[in-house]
Amino acid sequence: ATPTALMVGTGRGARMGVVVRGPEVLEQTRRADVVVLDKTGTVTTGRMSLVDVVPGADEDRDDVLRAAGALEAASEHPIARAITAAAAEVGALPDVTGFASRDGLGVEGSVEGRAVVVGRPRLLAERGLALPADLAAAQGRAEATGRTVVAVGWDGAARGLLVVADAVKPTSADAVRQLRDLGLRPVLVTGDHEAAARAVAAEVGVEEVVAGVLPAGKVDVVQRLQAEGHVVAVVGDGVNDAAALAQADLGIALGTGTDVAVEASDLTLVRGDLRSAADAVRLSRATLRTIR
Ligand code: ADP
Ligand code: MG
Repeated sequence: ATPTALMVGTGRGARMGVVVRGPEVLEQTRRADVVVLDKTGTVTTGRMSLVDVVPGADEDRDDVLRAAGALEAASEHPIARAITAAAAEVGALPDVTGFASRDGLGVEGSVEGRAVVVGRPRLLAERGLALPADLAAAQGRAEATGRTVVAVGWDGAARGLLVVADAVKPTSADAVRQLRDLGLRPVLVTGDHEAAARAVAAEVGVEEVVAGVLPAGKVDVVQRLQAEGHVVAVVGDGVNDAAALAQADLGIALGTGTDVAVEASDLTLVRGDLRSAADAVRLSRATLRTIR
């Protein structure tokens, strides 16, 4: 490999919006045969909108929304931004103390002296906050349509649900097709629930789906594929993807994502467009062909 050819390759990459950490990354890009795609913010826009608030039987809608919005104000997650924006519309957000983020699960902290938990129903269950039957039914209905349900709870029970919706990026289906044509096998991996994952996968043409995993579970998926002999690329944007990006043979971060993801990766897609991953593969093949 002549250093000059590699330099030319990385320079061309930069002009295409693909920033390579070092010239050796091109070899890993050429060899990748499986591509693990994060769902939220990678295949989807991650610009979530709050489409419904379902208060528990004895709860006030705005009370549920405000408590959640106050906590989510301190979170970087796309879901958090949607919830905080909607909550700010119903009034000033109450003060929060003792905020903590549980990556891939939700957030918790004290809002006006109440210990509040916001996130996956599973996180509330872990905190001993029971989900009443009417809310469980509402959760099932919302999830069946591919939407994501965020539960809000305090004082021993879930007090309401927030339903959020996301949209697939217009370029994602084309990107998946291009990656497949280049010989890469796509796998969608997400912390979101199965029905939401399946809906997105079907829309972009991916058959393999691993849903409901925590950040560490994403690492397990990568390791399992590596153990089978695959050279694994991971594309992600979030804090929750950092560990999987680091474990990957080729970590690809979206430039539109969080700094933590960019720092853990080998390659950055400046425009946040998944099609740039296919551009990178083509570039690596063209560059390494000329120096063999
Ligand atoms: P993905 O893998 O699709 O990028 P994450 O791992 O970031 O998703 O999150 C998985 C799930 O955890 C989300 O679908 C959501 O249900 C829940 N979650 C994560 N962070 C938050 C948050 N700040 N507020 C509410 N729910 C959250
Ligand atoms: Mg993401």
